[in-house]
Amino acid sequence: MQKHPDFENLFVLDHPLIQHKLTLMRRRDTPTGLFRRLLREIALLMGYELTRPLPLTTALIETPVAQMEAPFLSGRKPVIVTILSAGQGMVEGLQELLPNAREGHIGLFRDPATHRPVEYYVKLPEAAGRLCILVDPMLATGRSASYAVGVLKNNGFSMPNIRFMALVSAPEGVREFEQAHPGVPIFTAALDECLNENAYIVPGLGDAGDRLFGTK
Ligand code: URA
Repeated sequence: MQKHPDFENLFVLDHPLIQHKLTLMRRRDTPTGLFRRLLREIALLMGYELTRPLPLTTALIETPVAQMEAPFLSGRKPVIVTILSAGQGMVEGLQELLPNAREGHIGLFRDPATHRPVEYYVKLPEAAGRLCILVDPMLATGRSASYAVGVLKNNGFSMPNIRFMALVSAPEGVREFEQAHPGVPIFTAALDECLNENAYIVPGLGDAGDRLFGTK
């Protein structure tokens, strides 16, 4: 994992397995079932890095051979929060790593006139002391992600417990997000070139929701 030289809080997860799987996802002819599976697998691999700050304690256990002081996760259960609906594609992979994690949802749609996010659903677990992983596959304009972090902060989540996970990011989105929430780290598998006139990431992978749910 490397911090991107141009951004204060952007970490690009350059593990070869993540990069390979992302390339398969980007291909136009990758079918829905495979796209879904790859997104789940990448989320799991990314989750491995994102969960590094989870605190450990030790407890005395007995192996078949001897007693030992062995490490255990301590503290409150982490929270996975998805931005609906494409974020759902990343939840299962994270749940495999964190089977007891709590789950929250933030539903946003884009106002066709203002292009600003509008909230239609928020349901979050209790925040105190929990690591919160916010997930959305595409960090495009950055408006939804910035809005969602605002929702988290209004509901008691605070730094340094908030981490944002995006599969593919655009520089425009990273800039917007960093301005809105300096200090909240972004973990991504790729920083692409730019946004096009329709706010799609270039080269990107198209509409993540449509590809995930087979809606186009
Ligand atoms: N949302 C997507 O699904 N894809 C993009 O390229 C940008 C936003």
